This record gives sequence, structure tokens and C-alpha cells, in this order.
Amino acid sequence: MSLKTTCPVCGGTDLRGVFILGNVPVICNQLWPNAETARAAPAGDVDLMRCGACAMIWNTAFEPDRMVYAPGYENALHFSPKFQAFAEDLAKGLVERFGLKGRHVVEIGCGDGHMLDLLVKHGAATATGFDPSMEGKETPFTARDGVEIVPEYFRSDQLNRSFDAILCRHVLEHLDAPMPLLHDIRRAIGDRDVPVYFEVPNAGWMLRAVSMWDVIYEHVGYWTAASMETAFRRAGFEPASVREGYDGQFLMLEAAPAAPDPAWVSPDATEVAADADAFAKEANGLLEKWRNRLGQLDGTAVIWGAGSKGITFANALGQAAEPLVALVDLNPRKHGLHAPGVALAVVAPDALAKVRPDLLLISNALYEAEITAHVRGLALDTEIAVVAG
Ligand SMILES: [Zn+2]
Repeated sequence: MSLKTTCPVCGGTDLRGVFILGNVPVICNQLWPNAETARAAPAGDVDLMRCGACAMIWNTAFEPDRMVYAPGYENALHFSPKFQAFAEDLAKGLVERFGLKGRHVVEIGCGDGHMLDLLVKHGAATATGFDPSMEGKETPFTARDGVEIVPEYFRSDQLNRSFDAILCRHVLEHLDAPMPLLHDIRRAIGDRDVPVYFEVPNAGWMLRAVSMWDVIYEHVGYWTAASMETAFRRAGFEPASVREGYDGQFLMLEAAPAAPDPAWVSPDATEVAADADAFAKEANGLLEKWRNRLGQLDGTAVIWGAGSKGITFANALGQAAEPLVALVDLNPRKHGLHAPGVALAVVAPDALAKVRPDLLLISNALYEAEITAHVRGLALDTEIAVVAG
């Protein structure tokens, strides 16, 4: 079965184009020591299509073999107080709703074990996580009694004792073949009444917000509530709830085992298809606008923000990125390093006094006031513009 021709959820072969980004970094957030290595960073194509039958959206140009995570790849959401509160609430809620006090929980793709620790803290007796990226790594989160990490890919035949819930967060979007995992989990549950919790980035939010920054090579699948429900019902789960969380950016599904409904398609598929087409139109219009703007610029430009938004945008500009001379970032650990693909150096804000760009682009409108104050503080009259979307 090929991603180029076949829907990874329903097997449909009626594919419709959504959005294309050529030659993007395979790992967007990894910075490189110099321009040469940054330019040579592994790149791949994004050719998002949607399934005409179930409205699943995925990168048909994704090549799983390219997705080699370099050592030091850091996928953990950094532990902001806001994220801490979200995770704490989630663990507490799952222990309550799934009745996990004194029970055993399994997490697939547990990362450093942060959630395992929280589940036991809130009453689970034991929590076992599977994650191959934890091979040889230390983490503070296995210190608690009952928390264990197996540094391997999950396979149901590794489960040597019964379990009372399965969690899987931010894993499905990385899989080119998600259904075999769901079927494997369903087989492992058998005729017992074991609930599951799955969390993915919410592509429904991405489409509605025209957040094209969220289209990155690391993600092969762009899940909406509709495609989640379709996949889970087909694999033999009855969703109890599919909610949006974390300001709408995450999609959270809770489901119980049921008889598989292998032909089920969400009635919301039509709406997702319309959202996807609207997204494509607006995202392409946005890119075109900024390509023109930079094409007409007589001078140099910089982007403030060397995170995935800024780096994705710079690469998406293609040839039009030529006036760009640097990325600006507050994080001193990024200074002197180079962004993959476009090979722009990351500089400190104070370096702007020397660079003296004619145009400064802000990739996150939240920081507009702060950045403007900083730039004016350097006595620069640089034009400042927010890249919306
Ligand atoms: Zn489909």
C-alpha cells in the first residue's frame, strides 16, 4: 500500500490535492553549526492530499526512511507552566474517568515518562511506557515507584501482564501506517473492557486558523475529529469523546473497545474537505503575498523567531527568500547556529543595530509589541510586519 495512491485510514484511492511545500527540512527544529551543513540538511517534499472518501489528510510525498531522528532530537513540549497544568489535569482526569486507582497503565511513545509519573502520582499503581528514543537516556520521571520505561517500539506481544488502559500521545501523526497500530492494540485488548486515550495535533484547528506553519515533514498524518473517529470505529473502538484541548491545538480521543465497523465513515468528512480546500486557497494566497512583497523589496529583511514557524516560513518562500539575511531570536543557545534549508544565521536582537534590515517580519503576532519596542530601542526605523496565519 503506497501513501502516494492510497488513504492510510480507509484505503480509498480517490485523492484530492490540498497543499504543496517543496524541499522542506526533514527536521524543522534542528539548527546547524554553519551555512554549508544547514544548506545540506536532509530535505523532503510535502504534498498534502485528502481522501475523497473519509477526508483523511496526509503527506503523500512522505518517505518514512528519511525520518531518521538525529541524536539530541528533542520532541518534548517544553515544560511551560501552561503545559504542566494541562498535563496534570489530563492525568488526574484520566485516572478518574478510566477508574485507574491502583491499576496498571500502558503508554505508547512515552518520551521521557512525564505522563507516566503523573498517572502514578494521581493514583495509578504502575505505569509502563514504550519509547525507542529513550534507549540509553536518563530521565527523572522513572524515579517514582511503579514507573517503568521500555526503550523499544511498542508491540502488543511485549505486554506480559494485563493492563487497564492504553495511552498514546503525539504518535499517530508520525505514522505512515496508523491502522496496524490500532488493530494491534485492539487485538491486545481482546474481549476485556480496556479504554484508550489518544492525543494528536488538531488538524481541524490548523485548517480553520490557516496555520500553515503546522505543515511540517515530521508529520505524515493531519488528523481531524472526523478522521480520528473513522479510524477508531474501523479498528474496533467506540469513541466516548473527541475533544479539542490546549487552546484547540490538540485533539483528544477517549474510546472503549467495541465491534469493528470496517466501512464506517464520519458524516463530518464533507465539512473537513471544505475546510481543507479553504485552507489551501488561503495558505497559497498568503505565501504569494509575501513572495511578492519580498520580491519588490529593495534591501534586506530578517525574520524574528527561529522556531518552527519562522523556519517553515523562510523555507516556504523558496526563491523569494533571497532578501532574508538572518533570523533573530532571544534564545542565546541558538545564536551563531543556522536554520536548515535556507541556511540563515540566527542572531541576537542586538545584532540588528549592525544588520540594519529594511524589513523585519514577525512570525508570531503575540510578540509584536515587545519586538517593536526592542527594535525602536535600538534606534532603528526598520519597517515591521506581522506574517499572519
Ligand atoms: Zn480515506
